[in-house]
Parts: sequence; structure tokens; C-alpha cells
Amino acid sequence: MRHFTTAAAIVCVCSAMLVAQSGPNDARAREIFKELIEINTTDTPNGNVTKAADAVAARLKAAGFPAADMQVLGPDPRKGNLVARLRGTGAKRPVLLLAHLDVVEAKREDWSMDPFAFVEKDGFFYGRGTSDDKSMASQFVANVLRLKEEGWKGERDLILALTADEEGGTFNGVDWLVKNHRQLIDAEFAINEGGGGSMRNGKYLTNEIQASEKVFQDFHLEVTNSGGHSSLPVKDNAIYHLSEGLARLAKFDFPVELNEVTRGYFQRSADVQSDPKVAADMRAVARPSPDLAAAARLSASLPYYNAQMRTTCVATRLAGGHAQNALPQMASANVNCRILPGVSPASVKDKLVEVLADPKIKVTFVGEATPSKPSPLRPDVMGAVESLTKQMFPGVIVVPVMSTGATDGLYLRNGEIPTYGVDGTFGDVEDVRAHGRDERIGVKQFYEGLEFQYRLIKELAK
Ligand SMILES: [Zn+2]
Repeated sequence: MRHFTTAAAIVCVCSAMLVAQSGPNDARAREIFKELIEINTTDTPNGNVTKAADAVAARLKAAGFPAADMQVLGPDPRKGNLVARLRGTGAKRPVLLLAHLDVVEAKREDWSMDPFAFVEKDGFFYGRGTSDDKSMASQFVANVLRLKEEGWKGERDLILALTADEEGGTFNGVDWLVKNHRQLIDAEFAINEGGGGSMRNGKYLTNEIQASEKVFQDFHLEVTNSGGHSSLPVKDNAIYHLSEGLARLAKFDFPVELNEVTRGYFQRSADVQSDPKVAADMRAVARPSPDLAAAARLSASLPYYNAQMRTTCVATRLAGGHAQNALPQMASANVNCRILPGVSPASVKDKLVEVLADPKIKVTFVGEATPSKPSPLRPDVMGAVESLTKQMFPGVIVVPVMSTGATDGLYLRNGEIPTYGVDGTFGDVEDVRAHGRDERIGVKQFYEGLEFQYRLIKELAK
């Protein structure tokens, strides 16, 4: 009740039950959340995903999940994935609930608190993974336990998969499960991270369904040089070549290019803009031939808008030289690109070479990009999200989105399991701390997301 005053007034006769349940489920979700945050699951010698998977398995076991319906498995002892099944009648194919357990490294000295201690302060939960992605993982676990407790039986099984190495590392859990244990996770569609509610200054604006993702591709830039003594400098200097090329890249923008999902995003977002100029710009870029001046203004106003409209490439690492008193024999950089779906990585490489405009800068692929195909906007998923959003967050508009970052959704999508990033947990568009310092999530928003997800799962698997 405390979290859903408005929603409780709107929902049907079942609201009494939902409200009565929300207290205990909140407490359970918080406890699971705390436990997961305090297990270090980074891809470092201190991290261990299996511990987190085992902790969840222990809870499922205690709740009466049969051993045959849950397991922790993986290609590496520290990278275990939990897969569990809450059985429905089996009349329809399962729904897969996916969240990753691993987190990005967080150093104590970079944070104002211990990143692996769960802290509730000023209306937020703090800790590495609070927004990415242990909130969703704990919500799934709490809701599956709640459904089990309630004796729920829908037509679809619910498969819970909590996995390793989404953030990096060599043992990606979803990839491994798709390739080696497809039958365990086979589903008609999946719910994953990547969507969620966006708000600004406390005002809830949109609830996003992520149905598409940009493609991640790193490029290695390198300049080599014969070097020499730094007391006898020459103009041909590896560091200068590289840095001048990077300066040209800094000024370059890939062309504006919208697709069905991003056009829908700007069209629908325009309706919730408080600034009429921004709304007009959003409508102008959503036109069949986008208004480039409007695109430029939007790009300048928010990096997210910029990233929705074009492929981006940015320098993220730099190295060079080997001694204080020697001319550099080598200078190198990493350029990280987020490529629009449908644009070939090879064409991006050609563009980089053209923009760097210096044959001395050698550009090579780092790894191979995994293409990611957009998922069709299924009416059952869209409809459920629309109606629950209306119930719980009146005035909030549901928008389809393309993620600027990559998630494990791509392995599922490429494995023919359509995947939707959706949750009812709202975060401030100007307070994105995932992967950064003092990562946090609103307490109220966490519990709202918990309840939203509960209702969504029930609706989708009914
Ligand atoms: Zn994530």
C-alpha cells in the first residue's frame, strides 16, 4: 500500500490481495537485494558469480523448488549461472526472466562508500549493481518466490536465468546457455534489462520497452615510429600523429539516421516534454526526413538523444611512449563505437580511417561485433506493459527504445528468442550511475518496480 496509493485505488477487486502481499514481498526483495549487492561479482580475483547464484539457489530450495527444476551451471567454477523453473500448466511455451549477476568493477577509493556494502540513505539504495542489474535480479527472485508461495499456475512456465559475464569476462552465461543448454532456457520470449521508467526531477515521464540495441565494437588505433633520443626531436612523432587524428575524430559526428523504434521513441517522448521547444524538435526529428537543426539541438542537450540518432565512436583509452627521454616508438588508443543496428562495422571502420585522415594511424577491429536484430513489438507484451503502466503510473507514456549499450538480449535475439527490456523501476535521466561511482536506485522506485514486474509476469504467463 505504501508504494501504490494511486494504483491501489485503480486496480480491480484483486487489489486487496495485492496490497496485503506487497509488504512482505518488499521485505523479501530487500533482503535478497542486500545479499546480492554484498557478494562481489566483478570479473576480478575478488569476484565470484557462483556465490551469488548459489545464494539464490539456497532460497529457492528453502521455498520448496524441486532439485530437478533448478541448477547452478557454467563453464567456469567462478562463473556459475542459476537456471530455475516455476512450472505452469505448460499449455503455452515458457517466458524467460533474464538478469545478470555480474557487476562492473568498483574501487573503494573511487566511491564515497564501500561499493560492496548495501546502504540505504536519503531515499536511495547504494552499492555496485543497485541499478545494473541486481535490482532486477532480486525483483525476479522475490516475485518468483511470491508466485510459488501463492500457488500460482499460469499457462506458461517461468524460467529464471541469473547469469555471468554480461559486463565482460570470457564466460558469458547467456551465450553459453544458448549454445550448450538451449532446452533449459528455451522460451517464446524473454524479459530482460535495458528498459524501464525514466523520470526527471521526480516527475515520471516514460516507461521504456527495449526491443533493439546498438552494436558494440571496439577499434584499436596505433601509430608506430622508429623513435630516437628526445634531445633530437623530429616532427614525425607517434603521439602527435595519433592525437591529431583523435582531435579530428572528436569534432566528427556520424550522420543522423532513425529507425522504427527510435522514431517511435521521439514521437511518443514529445508528448511528455515540458519544454515545447524540445517537444517540437523531437517531432521534427521523427519525420520521415529528420530536421537536422532540430537533431543538432537535441544532441547538444542530452547525450542520450544524440546516441539514439546516430552511430557514435569515442576514444576511451590512450597509451604511448616508453621512456621520459625517448621519442615514442608507439602510440595507441581504443575507440569504442556503438553502431546503429543494420549499419555494418566495416563501414564504420572505413569512416574512422577517413576521419582520422592519417595513413600512419592503423585502425583494426578489436574482436568481432555480434549483430543484434530487433525484436518484433508483440501485442501481448506491448499491451500488458501499456495497461499496467496506465494502472500504476497514470500519465506515463510507454515508448519503444533502442539501447545505446549492449545487453545479453542480443544472444537471445540472435538465438531466436525475442527479448524485451522492460521493468517498472524509474530512474532519473540525469542521474545515470550504472558502471560509475556511488551507483544507486530509488527505494520507492525499487519497490514500485517489484510490484510492476510481479503483475507483468503474471499477465504474460497467465
Ligand atoms: Zn546490465
